[in-house]
Amino acid sequence: MAQENDYEVIVVGAGHAGSEAALASARMGCRTLLLTLNMDTLGYLSCNPAIGGVGKGHLVREIDALGGEMGKAADASGIQFRRLNMSKGPAARGLRAQVDRDLYGSYMKRILSTTARLHLRQSLVSKILVEGKMVQGVTDTTGESFFGKAVIITPGTFLRGLIHIGLVHFPGGRLGDLASEDLPESMRELGFTLGRFKTGTTPRLDRRTIDFSGLTVQPGDDPPMAFSFSTERITLPQVPCHITATSEKTHAIIRSGLDRSPLFTGIITGTGVRYCPSIEDKVTRFADRESHHVFLEPEGLDSVEYYPNGLSTSLPLDIQIKMLRSIRGLEEVEILRPGYGIEHDYSDPRQLFPTLETKAVECLYFAGQINATTGYEEAAAQGLMAGINAALKVQGRDSLVLDRSQAYIGVLIDDLVTKGTEEPYRMFCSRCEYRLLLREDNADLRLGKIGYGLGLVPEESYRRICGKEEHIDAERVRLRSARLNPRAEVNEKLAQWGTSAMKKTTTLEELLRRPEATYDRVIELAGIGSTLSEDERYQVELAIKYAGFVERQVHDIERFRHLEEIKIPNDFGYQAIPGLSNEVVQKLEKARPLSLGQASRISGITPAAIWTLMMHLRRKEPL
Ligand code: FAD
Repeated sequence: MAQENDYEVIVVGAGHAGSEAALASARMGCRTLLLTLNMDTLGYLSCNPAIGGVGKGHLVREIDALGGEMGKAADASGIQFRRLNMSKGPAARGLRAQVDRDLYGSYMKRILSTTARLHLRQSLVSKILVEGKMVQGVTDTTGESFFGKAVIITPGTFLRGLIHIGLVHFPGGRLGDLASEDLPESMRELGFTLGRFKTGTTPRLDRRTIDFSGLTVQPGDDPPMAFSFSTERITLPQVPCHITATSEKTHAIIRSGLDRSPLFTGIITGTGVRYCPSIEDKVTRFADRESHHVFLEPEGLDSVEYYPNGLSTSLPLDIQIKMLRSIRGLEEVEILRPGYGIEHDYSDPRQLFPTLETKAVECLYFAGQINATTGYEEAAAQGLMAGINAALKVQGRDSLVLDRSQAYIGVLIDDLVTKGTEEPYRMFCSRCEYRLLLREDNADLRLGKIGYGLGLVPEESYRRICGKEEHIDAERVRLRSARLNPRAEVNEKLAQWGTSAMKKTTTLEELLRRPEATYDRVIELAGIGSTLSEDERYQVELAIKYAGFVERQVHDIERFRHLEEIKIPNDFGYQAIPGLSNEVVQKLEKARPLSLGQASRISGITPAAIWTLMMHLRRKEPL
C-alpha cells in the first residue's frame, strides 16, 4: 500500500506539457501526482486560442497517434478549422484550429480529473529533492513534500516570470498568475544552467466594440477536418474570423511609444521569438512595409473577447489603445486585457538525454517551454514523451526515443538535446529532413502501433490502423495489376482531364502517376469501384504519385539509421581514443550522445571525428 505522499511519477505544472505527461504516465499504469499552481487553469492556453498550424499540426497529429490528448481536446473545442498550405505539396499542409478557450480548458480538466491513478493537487513547488544523483520528490512553498520515483518538471513561462507593460514590470507566470521564484533557484543549486527568453501576447478586445462591417471575412473549411484520428466529426458550431490591417497611422503611433517600450529601452534582455515578433518589432524591422495583417479571432462561442492575432505587444497601455483605434474596424474598440511581454528562465536542453531525462539527476525530466521551446504543441509533444519515458523507467522497461526519420517529435527533441537553441524553438516543416514521409495525414500509420504497444492507444484504434494498412496495400497491388486499354472513350476522357492520350495498354498505377489524374478519376475511368475510405484513397494516391521521391527518402533513412544504430555507452571514455582533438573530446563529454548519429549532429563534431569514433566502436562491438 502506497504512503499518502508517495507516487511513482510526479508532474509539476499542468499546462500543455504537464497535462500530456501526467495522462501518459497514469494511463501506462503509474500512480501519478500532478501538482499545479492553480487548479482553475489546467491546460490553459496562455496566448492565442488556437492549436496547430504548419509543422505544429504535424506535432498534434503525432501526439494523437501515440495516444495523447491535445488533438481530441482541440476537436472538442474547435470553432474554426483550416488546413493551411493547400496550394503546396502534401508534406507542407498543416491543420490549424481556432478553439474556444474555456471549452478547451474544461475538456482538459475533465479528462485530467477523471483519469484513473492520476491525483491532482494545487501546490507551488519550490524545491526538487535529490539524494546522491537520484531524484526523490519535490517540496512546495507550504513545506509539504511529495515523494516519487520519477519527477517531471513543466513550469512553462513561470520560472522567474517577469511581466512587462511599457516601463511597468512585475513578477508573474502570465498575467493574473504568480511566478515560480524558488524552483529555478533549486534547479541552479542542482547545477543546471539557465538562460532567459522573452515572449509576448496581444491585448484582448471587447467584441461589442468592434465594427466587423467592411472587414474581410475568413471562414473555416467546410467540412472541417479533425485533428484526432478517432474523432468522427466536429460538432461545435463553426464561426468565421475577420481580417483587418495596420496602417501608416498605426505605425506612427507605435513609433511614438518606442521610448517607453521595454524592448527598445533595453529593459527586456531575454531573447524573443524571431518568428512571432511583437508589432513594435515588425514596424521597426520592416520599416518600409505600409501595413501588417491583423486577424480578429474569437476566443469562444460565448465569450465577448477577441484576439487580434498579429498585434503582440509590450508597449504602454495608452499606446496600445491608440494603436488599436487606428485600425479599420477597431475605431471604437475597448480593451478587456492588456497586451504584455514576459521574460522567463529556461534550462539549456543540452542538459537532457533524448528521453528528456536530465543528465545530472537520474529520474528527473524536463518538458515544455522550460526546454527553450515556444508553443503549446511543442510543449505537449515533449510532455507526452517525458511522461512515457518516466513511466517506462519506473516500470524497468526500455525507453522510447523517436528518431528524426520517424516523427516531427523526434526532430524536435533531437534538435533540442543535440544542438540546443539560441532563441525560443518553434517547429517548422523545414526542420524535418524526411518530410515527404512524415506527413500529418499518415501520423497514425507511422506511430499508432507504438502508442498501442505502450498501452496508450486503445484496441479499437489499433484494429482500425491495421485495417487501413491492409486496405492501402491491397489497393496498391490492385492498381498495379489492373490495366486499361487505349480505347477511344478512354482517350476522350483523358482529353477532358487535359492529359495526353494513351498509346498502349497502361496499368492504373501508371495512369495515376500523371499530374492530372486523381485516385477517384482513375477508378471511375476504369469502372472498377472502390470501398476505400476518403483517407485511404488519399494515402494510395500519395503513395503512387510520390513513389520515386519516397523511395529516395527511404534510402536516405536507411543510411541515417546506420549511424543511429551504432550506440555509444553513456560512460564512454572519449579521452582514450587516439586521434580525437581535445575540443572534440570536450564537446562529446559534455553532450554524451547516445548514438553515433546523434554525435554527428553536435556542432563542431567533424566527419573525421565521427569516422575515428566509428572505427573504435566497431572494433569494440563488431557490427
Ligand atoms: P505552460 O502552459 O506555461 O504551463 C505551465 C504550468 O506550470 C502552469 O499550469 C503553471 O501553473 C504551472 N507551474 C509553474 N510553476 C509551477 C510550480 N513551481 N509549481 C507548480 N506548478 C507550476 N507560444 C507561441 O507559440 N507563440 C506565441 O506567440 C506565444 N506567446 C505567448 C505569450 C505569453 C504572454 C505567454 C505567457 C505564452 C506565450 N506562448 C506563445 C507560449 C505558450 O503559452 C507556451 O509555449 C506553452 O503554454 C508552454 O506550455 P508548457 O506546458 O511548457 O507551460
